[in-house]
Amino acid sequence: MRYFLDTEYDGFGGPLLSLALVPEDGGEEFYAVIAHDRVADPWVERHVVPFLDMVPEALGGPRLSRRDAAGALVHWLAHDSAPDIIADWPEDLAQLAMLLVTGPGQMVHSPPLTLRFVPLHGFSTAANSAVPHNALHDARALRDHIMKQLE
Ligand SMILES: [Mg+2]
Repeated sequence: MRYFLDTEYDGFGGPLLSLALVPEDGGEEFYAVIAHDRVADPWVERHVVPFLDMVPEALGGPRLSRRDAAGALVHWLAHDSAPDIIADWPEDLAQLAMLLVTGPGQMVHSPPLTLRFVPLHGFSTAANSAVPHNALHDARALRDHIMKQLE
């Protein structure tokens, strides 16, 4: 199954703040917000932080530690033996990959994953998102755009 990924993070090279995966079939979605103190990047403070919780109630929840978010993510993916995870920005894939690493030489138990970078020239997920810079809504915009192209 294809899943469309978006993440929000605290500026270039900064820590992960939220991560969403939405499946191509419109089924159950994954959304997690990582516990953080205050963010360092003023742009992120203004354009990302206020929207972190603007998701359907069923997907809301407490802030998670990175470890718990990683655990929740692989648990959510466990039903799929070959997830194909698509993003339009390399950092989204990097953030997901690094979330799986829990310490030196340690990672959560994950199914095999394909991480796929699909450059989208002239398309902005945020500009087409119902809630720009919210990872869930941006991931939905990415899915809608790519699936439409595949029709
Ligand atoms: Mg985004």
